[in-house]
Amino acid sequence: MSIKKPSFIVDLSCSMVITNNEFAEESKGQKLFCSCGNVQKFNSKLVRNIIKNYDELTEDSESAKSITCKSCNLTYSSLEKLYLLEPGLPEIYSIDYRLELKGEDNFSIIRVKGIAEYLSSNETLVFSESVDILKFNIVEKSVLLKSCYPFITNDLFTRQDKTGISIADSNKEKSAQSNYVFEHEIDITNVQYLEEFFSYSDSVNYSGFENILNSLNIIKPNIKDLEKFDSVYFIDFIKSKCKINKEEDGLGNVKYYQNVDSGFGDGKIIKRNLNLGDYLFNTMNSYKLLVSIISFENASCIIHTKGYSFFKSWTESKFICKPEVYLENKATNPHLIMQVSMTKSKEGESVLLKNLIDDTKCSNKVEPSELKISSTIYNSIKVISQLKTLNESFVLKIINKEQFEFLFQNYESNRVYGILSALIKSSRGDTVALCFKNLKHILDCNIDGKSEKSNDFMTIYKDTLRVIDLLDVKDKLIFKCKNYKQLKDLHDDYSSRYSAMRDAKKAEFYLKSVSPFLKLNSQIGDIKFEVVDTSERLNLEGLQMNHCIYTYLNRICEKEYIAINLTHVVTKERATAGFVRKGDSLQLEQIKGYYNSRATQEMISTTTHWCNENGISIKNTYSSDLQPDKSRERAMPGQMSEEKLFKLRKENGGVLDSKLQSNKKQENHLVKSFIKKIFK
Ligand SMILES: [Zn+2]
Repeated sequence: MSIKKPSFIVDLSCSMVITNNEFAEESKGQKLFCSCGNVQKFNSKLVRNIIKNYDELTEDSESAKSITCKSCNLTYSSLEKLYLLEPGLPEIYSIDYRLELKGEDNFSIIRVKGIAEYLSSNETLVFSESVDILKFNIVEKSVLLKSCYPFITNDLFTRQDKTGISIADSNKEKSAQSNYVFEHEIDITNVQYLEEFFSYSDSVNYSGFENILNSLNIIKPNIKDLEKFDSVYFIDFIKSKCKINKEEDGLGNVKYYQNVDSGFGDGKIIKRNLNLGDYLFNTMNSYKLLVSIISFENASCIIHTKGYSFFKSWTESKFICKPEVYLENKATNPHLIMQVSMTKSKEGESVLLKNLIDDTKCSNKVEPSELKISSTIYNSIKVISQLKTLNESFVLKIINKEQFEFLFQNYESNRVYGILSALIKSSRGDTVALCFKNLKHILDCNIDGKSEKSNDFMTIYKDTLRVIDLLDVKDKLIFKCKNYKQLKDLHDDYSSRYSAMRDAKKAEFYLKSVSPFLKLNSQIGDIKFEVVDTSERLNLEGLQMNHCIYTYLNRICEKEYIAINLTHVVTKERATAGFVRKGDSLQLEQIKGYYNSRATQEMISTTTHWCNENGISIKNTYSSDLQPDKSRERAMPGQMSEEKLFKLRKENGGVLDSKLQSNKKQENHLVKSFIKKIFK
């Protein structure tokens, strides 16, 4: 079937199309290509509402409200519209869907795009066809989409962030003779690519809808248990609502209609003109569903158990894997499918949440066997993003499997997920760990309840636990709180009590806080490491060194920070190292010399060595303190120069057999080789 060509107006110098007219040429006027064959020139612009295919155009007072073809006398106006063409820019004016059958299981939907383009070089209007193919092979479960320019929507280009496929990538793969700029297998992970193929534009003349219907009828029997799917709009569309009828008037114009219920409850069936845009939209969603299930048959069990909207959000989420990943992992039932979705990336690598583990004190290796989704857990999943919470809870070992099951069996699952995700969020950089009993407490006493201003219930809860610990009160105390308000009162009361006590007894709190770290006092080479063990010494350290370590007093008392004094026993160079504390583990944050100056290379490298020896990590955000920089060094009064130190060492045969380190004999071998490493 060939479609009657419409009429076009060519905007010769693009004076009507809105651009940032930097290269605006003088207007060359407009050229009408009437469908009768007549070509006619105009000098004025046309008003926007004569144009079919542009929403925004420049108009001025001279713009013509209508134009009439001199040859056939047809008047173009808001009732009889024209296509606007920019020179050199191809425009789709018609789309015809066709069906090509190659046996029962092998067929293609062909989209033939009628294209018009005005060529300035020879001042002619050229018509051509461009063909896109959606190819199905039901036996091989493969669906291939090939598209070429131009497109109705350019969405295809902007999707690359989501799928990782760009037009340029697929371009490389195409054969040299082919025109296809997009050529890709479509499966459950990327059905959104079908959107352009079925997209609608009201300036385009569509035909061939009966072929879309026929192809739906070919696919339908291949979808297992389609009849058993719950009644959801797109599923009803596939089952029955896709039926259309076609009528042709004497002039060869095609009209589609559907027989629908009158809607008046009189049981009458009426003929209604087909809304083409709606029909294509439903077709597009239907194909997304069908192609998903063709590529991964077992996916239908997710619709059966969780419904269509869960299925849709799953296929659009980052928890969707390639069909072969599910097959390799033998994921044929809903539990295993969700388990694979939770633990594997799209391409099948295991997702271990490395960052999460680094950020928290959890260092336990998680066995794959622990990441199992049982039927209780499967039933608890209401929203696909809860898979992330589940995975993180498993990885962080917040609670064990039995405890998970218990919570999901006894409490509303959304609340359980809410508490787990609040806990995960607050576990980054925090030291207070909640036990299962605390989680039960929160649930039983509605501490997470919506009625109160309890958005921040987890912070308050953990803060309360922290203050209870600092005050050395019995842990059990928190369980006396029977609701959020009581918890908040306890929190406020104990926090202020703690502040008052801390100020009065800072020295005592300080001693208690640093005592587990005194074992770190040691010496490597000529560098001595001493924990700043009292608040008086901390004050003195700040005064002598002229830096701000004393402002860390409260953080040290609250078990969040540790200061260690570094001294070069020969040169008397001094620096203070600051460590972020999480429970019993430390992380080096800064090394500050006299007046916040840079420490010497020897002090820096010995300190990083010392950190390695003691299992202390180094925070990379403050790494500049660890970059030796002579220009930033500043010697303390009375400090020996490096030149003098080197001279002294040379005289003593490379290593200073310092009497000061005689008490560290056992380390000497290690130290000598280490120092040789530093000083060549
Ligand atoms: Zn005409």
